[in-house]
Amino acid sequence: MSSGKCPNCGASTLTIPYGGSSQREVVVSCTYCNSRFSVNNPYYQPPVQEVRHTYNTTNYINYGPDRPRGWRYARDREHKFAKIAGYVIAILMIPFVLGIWIGYFLMAEPYPVFLPIGFTGFMLLFYLLASASDRELKRRKREGISY
Ligand SMILES: [Zn+2]
Repeated sequence: MSSGKCPNCGASTLTIPYGGSSQREVVVSCTYCNSRFSVNNPYYQPPVQEVRHTYNTTNYINYGPDRPRGWRYARDREHKFAKIAGYVIAILMIPFVLGIWIGYFLMAEPYPVFLPIGFTGFMLLFYLLASASDRELKRRKREGISY
């Protein structure tokens, strides 16, 4: 218990109730004039501030054996392999795809059109996979991430 003076009527018999240590202010009512007001809690203890340290480091994320699976978490060397292999296969397919299209237009009785379209699609698929890994590797390099 702690006592104080009423700011309204000046009575000095004001009693400040114990409001615990977590409340900054306590509500007091004067027994003489019945006015209610809040005063600083003399027992208030401010919470200990959490100290945060920020370190500027390379964001090396090591997920260990439980690392999430999927394209965005594939290892750098996997993306490098996908990039190189995808580009090489796509480039090697160019003369074959061109040949199958030329054959399709030159032959009197050509094979079904889904063959040249299908192989063109395969070539584009390898190219797109390679360029996606290429972009992902560039993004990681830009953001300083390494898997
Ligand atoms: Zn009063």
